[in-house]
Amino acid sequence: MKRGRVFSGARPTGRQHLGNYLGAIQNYVALQEDYECVYCVVDLHALTTLTETEKLKGNTYEMVLDWLAAGMDPETSIIFVQSHVPQVTELHIILSMVTPMGWLTRLPTFKEKVRLQPDNVNYGLLGYPVLMAADITLYKADTVPVGEDQAPHLEFTREIVRRFNHHFGPTLIEPQIKLTHYPRVMGLDRVNKMSKSLNNHIELAFSPEVIEQRVMTMVTDPQRRYRSDPGRPEVCNVFAFHGFFSAQQVEDIESQCRSAEIGCVDCKRSLARNLAASLAPFRQRRAELARDENLVWDVLSDGANRATPIAQETLEEVKIKIGLP
Ligand code: SF4
Repeated sequence: MKRGRVFSGARPTGRQHLGNYLGAIQNYVALQEDYECVYCVVDLHALTTLTETEKLKGNTYEMVLDWLAAGMDPETSIIFVQSHVPQVTELHIILSMVTPMGWLTRLPTFKEKVRLQPDNVNYGLLGYPVLMAADITLYKADTVPVGEDQAPHLEFTREIVRRFNHHFGPTLIEPQIKLTHYPRVMGLDRVNKMSKSLNNHIELAFSPEVIEQRVMTMVTDPQRRYRSDPGRPEVCNVFAFHGFFSAQQVEDIESQCRSAEIGCVDCKRSLARNLAASLAPFRQRRAELARDENLVWDVLSDGANRATPIAQETLEEVKIKIGLP
């Protein structure tokens, strides 16, 4: 017996990296045990920037292939593309009618987006949280996994639901926040979050050789200038990754670093080996799945077919409650 229904969406960003895996995908996989999961590639959300739209299809394919190889199960979870179930756009419009403008313009995320793309402050940027509320409520999700920093976004959805239900009577489910630990995964540069656009990432599908090349460029403890200098693992990103991928050795590495018994080059080589070994089953599964070039599209088509009746039912309930003819 499942505990409820989870919804989560991710923009189509192509091949996934360690930050995506540690921050989201491993949670997606784990949640499948206890929840009925609805996982959505939010391609409409990706349009807010209007850049590189020609890559949306390829990025969707690569991301979903990585999801499947990492253990997201299309038999138990509904995995689909947002725009393949167009009812979400209709619900978005309806929910926008109960959303005060002031709520949207005051959101720090909107202000940040205006700062980042001052030449393209489109309606989609402003209405983005309403589309998110439509995503979640359309599929009757009662649980949404979020990190602490994203909790205010979900609170916004809950406010829209309360407002709608107050106007028209109980209709939409107010989703509960499932606070989930999302480690902040820093990039190879140690300064920024891991991100493809900053080219400070390690893709899950990289070969062992490329993993080693990338790991060797990682920034370590900046105060450790000579091999004989004691290191400070607590400020070293290589050490943080050992925590994820070298659990058995992490205590030894910590003491060897502090006493300068190990140099950074050897420490990185050991991380690269452990990382490549951890990702080997993923790489093998990805290669197997990629042999069938229709597989990802078949999974997404099946997901849309299963998501549509849920969406249609919600939309009909909403329209009846409002009194639309
Ligand atoms: Fe980081 Fe390892 Fe160098 Fe210590 S020895 S500073 S943990 S890379």
